[in-house]
Amino acid sequence: MKELIMAKYGEIALKGLNKGTFEDILVKNIRRRLRHCGKFQYMRRQSTIYIEPVGECDLDEVIEKLKVIFGIGALQRCAVFEKDFEQIKAQSIPYLENALKNAKTFKVDAKRSDKSFPMKTPEIQVELGAAILEAYPHLSVDVHNPEVTVMCEIRDKGAYVSAERIIGAGGMPVGSSGKALLLLSGGIDSPVAGYMMAKRGLIVDGIHFVSPPYTSERALMKVETLCEKLTPYCGDIRFYCVPFTEIQEALRDNCPEEFFTIIMRRLMVKIANIIAERNEYGALVTGESVGQVASQTMQSLYCTNEVCTMPVYRPVIGFDKQEIIDISEKIGTYETSIQPFEDCCTIFVAKHPVTKPNLNIIKQHEHNLDDVIDELMKTAIETTEKIVVK
Ligand code: ATP
Ligand code: MG
Repeated sequence: MKELIMAKYGEIALKGLNKGTFEDILVKNIRRRLRHCGKFQYMRRQSTIYIEPVGECDLDEVIEKLKVIFGIGALQRCAVFEKDFEQIKAQSIPYLENALKNAKTFKVDAKRSDKSFPMKTPEIQVELGAAILEAYPHLSVDVHNPEVTVMCEIRDKGAYVSAERIIGAGGMPVGSSGKALLLLSGGIDSPVAGYMMAKRGLIVDGIHFVSPPYTSERALMKVETLCEKLTPYCGDIRFYCVPFTEIQEALRDNCPEEFFTIIMRRLMVKIANIIAERNEYGALVTGESVGQVASQTMQSLYCTNEVCTMPVYRPVIGFDKQEIIDISEKIGTYETSIQPFEDCCTIFVAKHPVTKPNLNIIKQHEHNLDDVIDELMKTAIETTEKIVVK
């Protein structure tokens, strides 16, 4: 008996003439994610990608990998039969044993997209249901809330029977929307922001600012671990590591304490903007959320945004901290994010930073620093290191 996995489209199914382009990217992403799981044949039909193993492979492992690929709305592991109802019935019974032996209730859901098949949908449901009841008399039918839903789909190339429909990651295939540069700290919010933009089809690379010796090697390793945790969703991540120590020391020594953080954040965004432009990113992404800290009030966000020429995506802007934490737990970044290492944003902070900065005053302070900072910025950009996390 042949088994395969059907990956059914999420939002791509709604696309019109350019649907093929999205499908191509999704198939490419699936191939890459499954490259160490075995050999597969891929077929695209009726808003579904059929993933059929060629030779031995662990289909449970394949499902685990597919579950986190954006662009897939649902997954079904199914047996493939000839479009002959007697055969479907006879072979479904043993195939479904594992799923049904410990269940109490079930129903059969049939779909018949091949209209030349001689039985209508309700007939398939009733007859297959009766055969299952006869083979597994401990079961009863519950059409509203069954423990197991047996799907029987009569499609172009065959009949497909499955006992489980798994919800996919949804969203759009990574790479179908463009690429963006994520300001990635070691905290909770920015990895979640990266995940959310990858879900909308963006290739997300990272930029991280370090200030050794004030920030440790382990803080950098933490960010690499966060990238590793994101790769099942995002694919390989390049990240730019910007040495920020000298700039921060110059700010500490030359600017009034209460303006330190806001001016520093403007410089971070300015540098990220330059690196993003040079490397053809279409937007920056941050984990900012209105009101979370002094540097994220509306006035502070206005001041940081002002140095930026490209769009800044802030997908968690309206989220509560707890809502962001819930996502980070779901995607597996939370445990890493809460490890207590200094980030460059947490060193040299003022006791009372401005919470409603005035842009003109900020610019005056920056003007006095320009000569020092311009040179340091150039050096920081030139010595930025590029790391690839697979
Ligand atoms: P996070 O949990 O993402 O660290 P946070 O609540 O700690 O967020 P801030 O430290 O004010 O907030 O940072 C706001 C945003 O600035 C972060 O979400 C991230 O996008 C960016 N950011 C902060 N620190 C760094 C860093 N060291 N390198 C790159 N980006 C950073
Ligand atoms: Mg942070």
